[in-house]
Amino acid sequence: MVIYDQKDIFTLFDFGIQIPVSESRATKTFAQLKSHRILGEKIRDWHIARVEAEITKTDLLRVHSKAYVEKLFSDELENEIIRAYELLDSKGRYYRYNPAKAILPLNQLLEKIISKVSGTFHCCQVALEKGFCFYFGGGMHHAQREYGNGFCLLNDILIAIRKLQAENAISNAWVIDVDVHKGDGTAAITDGDESVVTLSVHMAQGWPLDGEKFDDRGRLNLSFIESDIDIPIATGEEHLYVAKLEEGLGKLDMLPAPDIAIVVSGADPYEKDELPSTKALNLTLEQLKERDLLVYNFLKSKDIPRAYLMAGGYGESSWEVYAQFLEWALLDNLL
Ligand SMILES: [Zn+2]
Repeated sequence: MVIYDQKDIFTLFDFGIQIPVSESRATKTFAQLKSHRILGEKIRDWHIARVEAEITKTDLLRVHSKAYVEKLFSDELENEIIRAYELLDSKGRYYRYNPAKAILPLNQLLEKIISKVSGTFHCCQVALEKGFCFYFGGGMHHAQREYGNGFCLLNDILIAIRKLQAENAISNAWVIDVDVHKGDGTAAITDGDESVVTLSVHMAQGWPLDGEKFDDRGRLNLSFIESDIDIPIATGEEHLYVAKLEEGLGKLDMLPAPDIAIVVSGADPYEKDELPSTKALNLTLEQLKERDLLVYNFLKSKDIPRAYLMAGGYGESSWEVYAQFLEWALLDNLL
């Protein structure tokens, strides 16, 4: 199943934020699937056009601190957005943010983000029922308990898992994060929690691992908290990516199977990705297909429900990564 709610699509440019998440990753992917000879005919069997789930403050509070959630619902919201999207430079000037170009006020972004969290939760519910679901959104893996970070205001992945646990729909989960950036918020928030096992395969160098491990007061940089399984890939090691990922999945295979796996399925390891902070890892379209089939077949062979999120994918080519995988996965599900 695919959840693609056209009402849900917006770009950061609408808010004056110059981060190149293009609408095309949803629109072109969907157009390609619709134009497929078999998938086009069977669209009713795989397309869910409305996100039908509601996320409340209580849901946010299972993952984020009370202090942070209160800030999001106060006059401090704008500052929190500016921090999470890194819209100020070191001199305090606006950076990749031009309010004059905004057609929507910055504080309306929160509502949009909460609706993405709803989409992630809905995706998990459908995955539990049908085995496989891919949501055209979500994957905000950098958000920490106390603050937003790396374009991520709320950690939708964990909000969904905690809500499912609270409703007794699941007891445990795996998070398999193949976005090019380390899933640092997810790892930090679930540190020491055996009910959520995290695997992250990511650039060995670069953001969010390019800072100091400790600040000048000796406090640990939360981005360095390890996932249960971390697979750093150095620049030039692209040819080893799939084999190393397979080795990581082998470690998961030794653990009891979870009730659900959430795949944070970023397209940003793609060599054509346009965000500068993805440049330390450059996979071809073929390598990305190998990656996606490896994870999908591993989970399917173990009969684990699979909820997929779009996560990072920047510029005008990232849709190719999602489209090639979904064409294959939907046919696998329908035929
Ligand atoms: Zn990313």
